Amino acid sequence: KKRIGVMTSGGDAPGMNAAVRAVVRMTIARGCDAYAIYEGYEGLVQGGDLIKKMAWSDVRGWLSEGGTLIGTARCMAFKERKGRLTGAKHLIEAGIDALVVCGGDGSLTGADLFRSEWPSLVQELIDTEVMTEEQVAPYRHLNIVGLVGSIDNDMSSTDATIGAFSSLHRICEAVDSIGSTALSHSRAFIVEVMGRHCGWLAVMAAVSTGADFVFTPERPPEGEDWESDMCKVLQKHRDMGKRKTIIIVAEGAIDRELKPITPNYLKDICVNRLGLDTRVTTLGHTQRGGTPCAYDRMLATLQGVEAVEAVLDSTPETPSPVIAINENKITRKPLMEAVKLTHSVAEAIGQKDFRKAMELRDPEFAD
Ligand code: ADP
Repeated sequence: KKRIGVMTSGGDAPGMNAAVRAVVRMTIARGCDAYAIYEGYEGLVQGGDLIKKMAWSDVRGWLSEGGTLIGTARCMAFKERKGRLTGAKHLIEAGIDALVVCGGDGSLTGADLFRSEWPSLVQELIDTEVMTEEQVAPYRHLNIVGLVGSIDNDMSSTDATIGAFSSLHRICEAVDSIGSTALSHSRAFIVEVMGRHCGWLAVMAAVSTGADFVFTPERPPEGEDWESDMCKVLQKHRDMGKRKTIIIVAEGAIDRELKPITPNYLKDICVNRLGLDTRVTTLGHTQRGGTPCAYDRMLATLQGVEAVEAVLDSTPETPSPVIAINENKITRKPLMEAVKLTHSVAEAIGQKDFRKAMELRDPEFAD
């Protein structure tokens, strides 16, 4: 009988509770014991009350709750081997032999490292006489399965991360609200959206709201004088009778020299060159919180179920999987390959190789 722990780590995202609910209930349905690790890796390091056995009814109503009810944290201690050693001890004491981690690329990197170090951590617990050979015998192998929870949709190997569509939905509603007042006063608005190093939220919001212009990290504006090019587009839309101007800018937007493109810089251009009455709106954390949309509830539930199946299928030899969705099918992908691919996008951007960044995001872009 397996004892499966589930935790949420890194930035919170709508749908994380639905994922925890699915993991807990599927674990119980499969005749295993479910545990929640509270406060991300902090819960592993601190142990005690932060590792709690979960009953079926403990996750009742969680499908539609925003944020993460088991808490999340950025845990510096887990980045050190000492912290992970304490975490291993607490897991073994609780009798947990598998972990489902729902988080971003940082959390999943930590999870993979924890698993690869596991045999040596266990050995160290014996060697330092913290635990006996007998105590650790059933825990020679730790199963890890990743679920990607992030509003940014910034993980390679999966079409959607848990939370991204809820965030997109919230952004669209906000831009719609801004749009009606912009229209009344014939104003321009620069709307900054989240996404860290990923432009998915910005691009999809721009498409979904019919924005006039969009700035992303992966594809900086081309041309010597992109400012004039942008002005031409905005003016053309005005000449066609449009009474509002909406520019969406990702928080990580940069130019070809990697210099941030800030909302205030764009505002000054709109005011000084086009004479537009321009306001800046930073949407901030409204994009992160609140009720998950139907898609995220469904995605988190189907992936939570698959995560438990993957735990039950895994052997010491199989590499840790991350649960993905590809062309509408729930799939398993090698966790570390997904993380490495994600990092190589950031590296390509850092090296100003924007074509490569786009190809890594979308292999069809190469054609
Ligand atoms: P996200 O998971 O959203 O990318 P972070 O990068 O902040 O968020 O990671 C969340 C937590 O995961 C960190 O606070 C840390 O505890 C753990 N973590 C991240 N990277 C590593 C790593 N390389 N080794 C061990 N733990 C890590």
